[in-house]
Amino acid sequence: MMLSSVIRNLFSKPATRPFAPAARTAPQGYRGAVEFEEEVCIYCGACATRCPANAICVDRVAKSLEFDPFKCVQCGACAEACKKGCVQLQIDYQHPVAVRHTVAFHGPPKPTVAP
Ligand code: SF4
Ligand code: SF4
Repeated sequence: MMLSSVIRNLFSKPATRPFAPAARTAPQGYRGAVEFEEEVCIYCGACATRCPANAICVDRVAKSLEFDPFKCVQCGACAEACKKGCVQLQIDYQHPVAVRHTVAFHGPPKPTVAP
């Protein structure tokens, strides 16, 4: 029994796939990776409020948004919540990365009030 398994495994293809940055087609049901259209964002914070993974942090006063793609579970709730339509889930293949990073952007500074 064990000998037959050893022989079969010697001549069969590997059960795992090599780690390689070659593009693959997205599996069925994949919702996509979150992308922001920062020019349209009004820093309302609705996406951050709806995010179950706490992957988005919005500072309404400072007009800044930070997104941690490594926390994101790609549920799509942020895209549903955004009334400006500036959050999209992109089905494109996302290459693996070796270093953790966040996505951050901010709006124009508040206009100063003339004396
Ligand atoms: S919900 Fe949309 S407009 Fe509001 S902060 Fe998030 S991305 Fe920006
Ligand atoms: S897709 Fe879901 S988990 Fe990812 S940032 Fe949006 S709300 Fe959060």
